[in-house]
Amino acid sequence: MDFTKILKTSRFLDPAQGFAETKRYSEVRVDPLTGRTSRILDFPIKELARADVRAQVENSKAWCPFCPAVVEFVTPKFHPDLLGKERYSRGEALCVPNVFPYDENGAVCVMTREHYMPLLEFTAGIMEDALACCFEYLEDVVIKQPEMTYQSVNWNYMPLAGGSLIHPHLQITASSSSTNYYSEMVPALARYEEKNGRSFWSDLSDEEQSRSERCISANGRLTWLAAFAPLGVFDILGILHEAHGPEDIRDGLLSELVEGLLKILRYIDSLNMGSLNMSLYFLRGDRYFVPHLRICPRVSIPPFDTSQINYMKMLHNESLTTLKPEDICSELKALWHE
Ligand SMILES: [Zn+2]
Repeated sequence: MDFTKILKTSRFLDPAQGFAETKRYSEVRVDPLTGRTSRILDFPIKELARADVRAQVENSKAWCPFCPAVVEFVTPKFHPDLLGKERYSRGEALCVPNVFPYDENGAVCVMTREHYMPLLEFTAGIMEDALACCFEYLEDVVIKQPEMTYQSVNWNYMPLAGGSLIHPHLQITASSSSTNYYSEMVPALARYEEKNGRSFWSDLSDEEQSRSERCISANGRLTWLAAFAPLGVFDILGILHEAHGPEDIRDGLLSELVEGLLKILRYIDSLNMGSLNMSLYFLRGDRYFVPHLRICPRVSIPPFDTSQINYMKMLHNESLTTLKPEDICSELKALWHE
């Protein structure tokens, strides 16, 4: 498996050094499966200040459709032609149709009764109930709509990450149409296995374990890696080797997944990053696809709260970061095995 890095040097005359020649370094990294590239920039990293979200939290309480006093009255119910239940619930989690769906089956899962939950306050119980509730919905979708094979559970945590409501919620989709992520990955997985006679996912896990630069934890059922060519500031990848669909993630495997997830939340918080995107991807009936999760923190850049998403990601579909996945792995590993 190739982990290709193309090292770049940029030279210019630096006014800070009397216009003497200076050099800057960067890397283009090629994803070992798809060939998609990401850039790692060699910029000095300033420590981020923790964002003060108190005003945002307070103001958003004035009207929140997910708060316990109103949620049952103002959120919709699933159509009986499509699903077996009007709503799905487990513990504090409640899964209802998304009033602004991106697809034929869009749902949201309200994760907590609490309107705002700081990253460190998510418990294993809250996360397990929320995911299990989403999985029950996804299992039910295909009973009456078997063609809805592209399934995912997604999280925009806080407005900086695209969350339109503060109240913690997951977004679930079940579709007959792929996203670009699947369109790029699915043919590449088939090509890999036809060429090498082995599953990409087990090869990736074995290779990363033997290199031990980016492997956070691995046990045969679940591998956690810092992605070589990250999709965000950093990109933690969790591979569920033995699962095929949401129904396979329960009991011990669900607890193990959530345990890892909580450690990643703790790490993100320790860096004063308070927003994130997460996707847990499924593709039913594809022999090469293995369910996996990616989680990327979101940041804005001081002093002007500049968006980290600029023309490179928007229009060239190229991720930029100043954080090396190997450094992220080593820090996260320390926290992981504490
Ligand atoms: Zn609320």
